[in-house]
Amino acid sequence: MKLYNLKDHNEQVSFSQAVKQGLGQQQGLFFPLELPEFELTDIDDMLEMDFVSRSSKILSAYIGDEIPQQQLSERLKAAFTFPAPLSRVTDDIACLELFHGPTLAFKDFGGRFMAQMLQYVSDSAEQITILTATSGDTGAAVAHAFYGMENVRVVILYPQGKISPLQEKLFCTLGGNIQTIAVDGDFDACQSLVKQAFDDENLRKTVGLNSANSINISRLLAQICYYFEAVAQLPQEKRNQLVISVPSGNFGDLTAGLLAKSLGLPVKRFIAATNANDTVPRFLKNNAWEPNKTVATLSNAMDVSQPNNWPRVEELYRRKTWRLSELVSASVDDETTRQAMRELNDLGYVSEPHAAIAWRLLRDNLQEGEFGLFLGTAHPAKFNESVEAILGQPLALPQALADRAELPLLSHEMADDFAALRDFLLNK
Ligand SMILES: *Cc1c(COP(=O)(O)O)cnc(C)c1O
Repeated sequence: MKLYNLKDHNEQVSFSQAVKQGLGQQQGLFFPLELPEFELTDIDDMLEMDFVSRSSKILSAYIGDEIPQQQLSERLKAAFTFPAPLSRVTDDIACLELFHGPTLAFKDFGGRFMAQMLQYVSDSAEQITILTATSGDTGAAVAHAFYGMENVRVVILYPQGKISPLQEKLFCTLGGNIQTIAVDGDFDACQSLVKQAFDDENLRKTVGLNSANSINISRLLAQICYYFEAVAQLPQEKRNQLVISVPSGNFGDLTAGLLAKSLGLPVKRFIAATNANDTVPRFLKNNAWEPNKTVATLSNAMDVSQPNNWPRVEELYRRKTWRLSELVSASVDDETTRQAMRELNDLGYVSEPHAAIAWRLLRDNLQEGEFGLFLGTAHPAKFNESVEAILGQPLALPQALADRAELPLLSHEMADDFAALRDFLLNK
């Protein structure tokens, strides 16, 4: 598999290099040179397969012979150890529940596959430092995916006081090869610190820096697989009438969905749902990229005003000659999010703020005869404080989360200051 840097198309790398490097020069994102497409009959056959076999077929279409199919299957089997079921909400809407992994959010799929790939492509003598910024859920997925792996040190930055207490407990209590830093700033500040670290050639080499956020291509590729899994669970007659609504922050999940469509998965339309951090919906409306200051919302994992993956979305539309005007995108404020959660609850489905935003736009946008899916990106218990307050009813914590909640936080605190981060990486 060859990939090119979106900021400098002359920089081309293999899949292994892209996995190891994360970003290209000038912080450019890597994008596949070939966009494979399956025949319709292939897709039909694939929809009959089990999750891991089908996923291995999808990923080898992209990765090619760089990883033998047998190896890829084994790695996928180790990564995808939990299901992605559909849960019916109404006759024409279901939730694709992506939160049945160890850290109860969709990021387990990408995080665990990336850990497998990185281990596969790395020379076991090299020391790797995974440096990543999280708005809440990536940190946990990455921490758990790499916990206890030899020669890997994981450093995770997160905005202090801006993630839920349970989210924090989930990844800041592990210790061992996992270090966590609470930064005095917002998620964009954390993301910017990570980018500065990658720009520092000397630092990058000395500690063997690698990123694990949604800019790493292996995470995106893994996420393509559950879009196929969703369609596989639908009855035949609904498969061609599908609208998918994606709660979006960094737009990695949406990019993966679009890559699934590009492979030939039948999806009529995507909806990119955001919270008040609405850079993309405003861009699609006014054709002007004008990020505002990030604001804190109920759906904190989507509190991103400069979505990292947007250049990939634009590139895919350009390459496929799709029209961006066909991408539906809108923002939902906190009050409407609360209302949406209560409406879902009345329909017998307990949800959390991120998924509720996607559902709300889906139910407004769905046409007669269409079938809608929204992505359930996190388990409601991960946001139990806001969910309980909004729904006025208690929520049981899954056991894994209840156990973690009892453990002490092991995080370091840091100012929004690159010199401090540099010092930490070199000396702590
Ligand atoms: C990360 C996250 C999102 C946003 O996903 P992107 O790929 O960054 O757009 C949405 N919901 C939850 C619960 C998340 O953790």
